[in-house]
Parts: sequence; structure tokens; C-alpha cells
Amino acid sequence: MKILDKVKKQNKRLTKQRSAILRYLQNVTCHPDAEKIYKKLRPKMPHLSLGTIYRNLRDLSADSQILEINTAAGVSHFDGNITEHSHFICRCCGVIYDVWKKYPLENKNLPGIGRIEKIECNFYGACVKCGKAQNYETNY
Ligand SMILES: [Zn+2]
Ligand SMILES: [Zn+2]
Repeated sequence: MKILDKVKKQNKRLTKQRSAILRYLQNVTCHPDAEKIYKKLRPKMPHLSLGTIYRNLRDLSADSQILEINTAAGVSHFDGNITEHSHFICRCCGVIYDVWKKYPLENKNLPGIGRIEKIECNFYGACVKCGKAQNYETNY
């Protein structure tokens, strides 16, 4: 095989892997980490490596096609829904929920400071399941 053909084939594979990762993220609401994505996609894509997943996730979030969520545990989770929303992250089990409460921020211009382009706001706490296990008041 000619080198150019080999490169073309490789590029095609990379594009395919990248769009498979993006499609998967857009279809789930579980905010998976890289390893979970790897476990889900690997059976269908035998050439996929965890390194490729990490690289693609980095590129996709640099392109603003996905959101990266940094959890307290220091592991990045990813979201295919890039609409402006927040996350509730359970500090016990790590589950991540979408929070669609509107920001109390109508004006994105901060006079004398600049214009806000991106807001990241995460809420940390115990989810209902973990709260129950710890006998918390769970009437929320
Ligand atoms: Zn929990
Ligand atoms: Zn989300």
C-alpha cells in the first residue's frame, strides 16, 4: 500500500472514531468519562484505543462540540449536550444530573470588565439515593 493511501485510510478511521464518540455523547444523558465511552464503543470498533478516545475528547471539547465536566474526584466527564446548563454532581456516587434552572443572569455584559461568553457552574452534594443511605433529610 502506498504511504498516501495508508494515511488516507488512517484519517478516515480517525474521522469515523471521532464522529462515533460525538454521536454516542449526543445520545446519552449519563455524562460518561473516557473509560466508559471506551467500553461502550470498543466492541463495535476494534481499532479504538483509550488514547484515541482521550485525544478525540480533547479535540471535540476544544471545538466546543462537547462539554467537559470536572468532578471533585478529578476525573473529566463529558456531555454531548452543549446547550447552556449546569450539573449536579453527587459527591458520594459521582452521578451527574443536568440542571436546567436558568441563570439569574440576563445581561452578559459586565460593565468595565468584559462580556461573558461561557458560564460553568456545577453544584455538588449528595444525590437522593446516597442521601437516603446516609439518613439525610431527603424531602428535596
Ligand atoms: Zn449519589
Ligand atoms: Zn449535562
